[in-house]
Amino acid sequence: MDCLFCRIIAGQIPGNFVHQDETMVAIKDVNPQAPLHVLIIPRRHIATLNDLSVEDDALVGSLFRRAAAIAKEHGYDERGYRTVFNTNGEAGQSVFHIHLHLLAGRGLEWPPG
Ligand code: AMP
Ligand code: ZN
Repeated sequence: MDCLFCRIIAGQIPGNFVHQDETMVAIKDVNPQAPLHVLIIPRRHIATLNDLSVEDDALVGSLFRRAAAIAKEHGYDERGYRTVFNTNGEAGQSVFHIHLHLLAGRGLEWPPG
């Protein structure tokens, strides 16, 4: 298994888990870009958003709803937060197993860099 996030999900590499259920996990980003930086990751290996099919619609919705729940748990639901999927090279995707970034706890610039 050469996918970093598959290995974290399998317990072969440690992760700082903030949520786990049948379909997804959420871990703290090891190189946080904001006071709260969590990655919401489906258990199933999907390389990029380009690989999603209609059968994944509910899964993707549940990733966003989990991001909102984690933001709320940390008190950022009203202050604000950002959710981002990076896809492929120019967006800076570095791990090719889709993951929703949740960033909160500081003013976030727009447009992003
Ligand atoms: P992306 O660049 O959008 O593919 O995001 C990958 C993210 O994974 C980056 O924000 C990294 O800091 C993060 N990351 C890399 N290795 C680990 C790890 N072992 N545990 C948690 N997060 C990681
Ligand atoms: Zn994977």
